[in-house]
Amino acid sequence: MASEGPAAILGTKAAHFVFVPLREQGHLIPAVDTALLLATHGAVCTIVAPPSTAALVRRTVEAAQQTGLAVRLAEFPLDYAESGLPEGADSGDLVPAIYMENYYRAMARLRAPIERYLRGSAPYPTCVVSDFVHPWTKELAASLGVPRLTFFSMCAFGLLCQHNLERFNAFDGVEDPNEPVVVPGLEKRVVVTRAQAPGFFRGIPIPWWEEFGDYVERARAEADGVILNTFLELEPEYVAAYAAARKMKVWTVGPVATYHQSRTTLASRGLRTSAVDPDECRLWLDGKAPRSVVYVSFGSISQAEPKQAVELGLGLEASGHPFIWAVRNADEYDETTRGFLRELEARVAGRGLLVRGWAPQLLILSHDAVGGFVTHCGWNSTLEAVTAGLPVVTWPHFTDQFLNEKMAVEALGIGVSVGVKEPLTYQAVKKEIVVGRDVVEAAVRSVMGGGEDAEERRRRARALAAKAQRAAQIGGSSHGNLQDLVKRFEAGPARGAAA
Ligand code: UDP
Repeated sequence: MASEGPAAILGTKAAHFVFVPLREQGHLIPAVDTALLLATHGAVCTIVAPPSTAALVRRTVEAAQQTGLAVRLAEFPLDYAESGLPEGADSGDLVPAIYMENYYRAMARLRAPIERYLRGSAPYPTCVVSDFVHPWTKELAASLGVPRLTFFSMCAFGLLCQHNLERFNAFDGVEDPNEPVVVPGLEKRVVVTRAQAPGFFRGIPIPWWEEFGDYVERARAEADGVILNTFLELEPEYVAAYAAARKMKVWTVGPVATYHQSRTTLASRGLRTSAVDPDECRLWLDGKAPRSVVYVSFGSISQAEPKQAVELGLGLEASGHPFIWAVRNADEYDETTRGFLRELEARVAGRGLLVRGWAPQLLILSHDAVGGFVTHCGWNSTLEAVTAGLPVVTWPHFTDQFLNEKMAVEALGIGVSVGVKEPLTYQAVKKEIVVGRDVVEAAVRSVMGGGEDAEERRRRARALAAKAQRAAQIGGSSHGNLQDLVKRFEAGPARGAAA
């Protein structure tokens, strides 16, 4: 059932972290990177997952095992029938939204088999690290008699804003989801709408989700600590304030993507097969002037509607800058849009590269030729931009992305917004919001061009990148926090996770 790491670890007092990740790439990739980083510090890590999730991480885990890291991957089949989940509903790109409830139920049913497996594992687990969307790990950790940490690939700023909005009932009596509200309890003034920060699993008009949201919140509140994929120097005041608000220890361990130092793992990170040969992509970038290329991606879930794809393409073309555009699920577009993409590609041949599917994002962002990133502000992408020292054009689509945009534009001063104010996917009330080609062109020119503001954004981005690198190196804050985790959760007399 499990693929084993080196046998030498058995019988040691090493910390043994059990990771329970979510399947979505924005959760899964950083959780696995964190496990691998902990393993580089001497921990044993077991990643437990259903086969469809395990398949996405197997290549990365096996590569890590070959370098001698004590990382295991243990698979647990979902009980489709009992959970009302159609067989294989989790095997595609994303679990279809209509089955998400059943999927979460199916995941919760894995508790008993996972517990049985862990009881027999050596060394015995010393800590459960759970994605925050798996509240049932509270009972798993309690039965095993070990502490449980909640894992977020989110910034402390966003988490704190969301926490304070809920704790102080900031949206009470506010009818209009687009009415701006000041986030309570912050030193700086941050304004947000309910549509932009509805809270996790909130605002879905199905009672089950409301209950699930409460269960998630209880499990978060009762955790023994928090692991965040951010770094202290990026947002020291928010890390401290979030720890104080939650009354628990927060370990910042990011940017966890820094685990990937070799060309091979840089190219294959993302756990899916790249839609472009990474070497060809690198060669293409090698032919471009330093900092001249803009990279465009809306992450692993969001996708531009057909009309939006056309406006985005025309805006990129008009900007005059070389670009790489990761077009997710390009084959799902109607023939007109597919035709538009083909014609665009022909017109910008040599200057624009369309990647139809999964792009080797980290490899692209770390190339000298890239000078800016049009991003949907998923936290991983935002942090990856920071780590690469890149200014961003911000284009949030849903969930925490609006808060991440505020982080990039208002707190860090490295972003230019395209001005989207309402969610475009998931919790969105379906209405057509299209960012025009002129807006795209202006935002790209602004981030990529000359001028004092653009220079200032670049200067700030470079300074943040230097801080990110330092945090991950020996003596750095994230490096130290990883060491602390490994030490604190060694087997032995109860160490607890108190601050
Ligand atoms: N990613 C990638 N190639 C792609 C799309 C995404 O490597 O074509 C990676 C990206 O580097 C990031 C993650 O997938 O680590 C996406 O996470 P993020 O939080 O940015 O957005 P989400 O996909 O959760 O919306």
